[in-house]
Amino acid sequence: MKQDLLGMTMDELKAFATETGEKPFRGKQLFIWINRGVRDFREMTDLPLAFRQKLEETARIGHAEILDQQIDETDGTRKFLFGFAGEAGDDAMDAAEAVFMKYKYGNTLCVSSQIGCRMGCRFCASALGGFVRDLTAGEMLSQVLMAEAAAGEPINHIVVMGMGEPFDNYENVAKFLRILHDPDGKNMSYRNMTVSTSGLIPGIRRFAKDFPQAGLAISLHRMTDAGRSSIMPVNRRYPLDGLLQAAKEYTEETGRRITFEYALIRSENDTEEDVALLKKRLRRMLCHVNLIPLNKVEETGLEGSSRQRAEAIAVELEQAGISATVRRELGGNIDGACGQLRLQRKK
Ligand code: SAH
Repeated sequence: MKQDLLGMTMDELKAFATETGEKPFRGKQLFIWINRGVRDFREMTDLPLAFRQKLEETARIGHAEILDQQIDETDGTRKFLFGFAGEAGDDAMDAAEAVFMKYKYGNTLCVSSQIGCRMGCRFCASALGGFVRDLTAGEMLSQVLMAEAAAGEPINHIVVMGMGEPFDNYENVAKFLRILHDPDGKNMSYRNMTVSTSGLIPGIRRFAKDFPQAGLAISLHRMTDAGRSSIMPVNRRYPLDGLLQAAKEYTEETGRRITFEYALIRSENDTEEDVALLKKRLRRMLCHVNLIPLNKVEETGLEGSSRQRAEAIAVELEQAGISATVRRELGGNIDGACGQLRLQRKK
C-alpha cells in the first residue's frame, strides 16, 4: 500500500524525505504543495524528476472524493458529501459531510470529525446511524482543500461542527488544526478556528491548554441535569455543574469568551422557566449564547421553536446582561443546517 502523505505535518514530511534519501527541505516543499491543494506529484515542479517518479511509485496524496454536492443558490451554501476510503481497504466508502458557508467576513467550512457519532443526542441526525469511525487529520484537511477547489474560493475559517464529537477524536483534530495553522501551509490563524463539543470535560481542559487562541463552543440545550440527560446522554457522565465550571476555567485561562449553543426545541427547553435557568446559571460568565431554533430531523419527532420565540429569548438574555443572538440559518434548503448532517453511504 502506498504511503499517504496527506495530513502529515511539516516535521513528518521532512522525516519522510530523509528516509527516502532526500534532504529535509524536500519535505518542506512537499508540505507546501500538498497544502496548496496540489494532488499530483507531476505538478510539483521544484522537486527533482527522479524524486517525483519515486513518489508516484511509493506514495499518494489520499484525498477524499466528492460523492455529491448540493448548492443553495439563495445564499451560496454548498453541502458536500465526501467519500473516504474504507478502513480495511475494501471497496465500501465511508461518507461524511461538510458545509461551505459564505459570510460577510469570509468563507467558513463546517468540518466533520468522525463518521457517525457516539454521543447519541436525541435531536441530532448525526446520531441516527451510530458510530463508524474517527476521521484522520488528513481526511479533515481534505475536506478543506477539496471544498476550496470545488467552490473556487478560499476558506478563511473552519468550525469543527459537522458530524462527530471532536473531543472524542482529540489527537486527530488537534493535528488537523496544527497543520492548518502552519505558516507554510494554509497559515490559518487559530482565532479563525472553532471547535464545538457536546461537553467532554477532559477535552475542554486539554483544548484550553493546547489551543488558547482558538474558539470553543459548548452545546448546552438544557439547564437541569435531568432535562439535559434526557436529550444528551453525555450529561450523565459529565453533569452540568462540572461542565459549567470547566467552561468558566476555560475563560479564565484563555481570556476568551466561550460560546454556548442552545438549540430551541418547542415546549421542551424554550419556556419561561428554561430562560430563567439560563439567566441564573450563565450570569457573570464571559460567554455568548447562540440560539438555534431546532432544525427538523424527521425521525426525532421534535419541533423547533418559532423564530419569534427565539428572538424574544435573545432579548430577554441581553436584558439580563448575557450576550445572545439567534443564529442566521444557512443551508436549510439543502439539509445542511445544524444537526441535519446524516450518515449517508453510497452503495
Ligand atoms: N458534537 C459537537 C459538534 C457537532 S453539532 C457538539 O455537540 O457540539 C453542532 C451543533 O448543532 C451542536 O450544538 C448540536 O447540538 C447542534 N444540533 C444538533 N442537532 C440539531 C438540530 N436538529 N437543530 C439544531 N441544532 C442541532
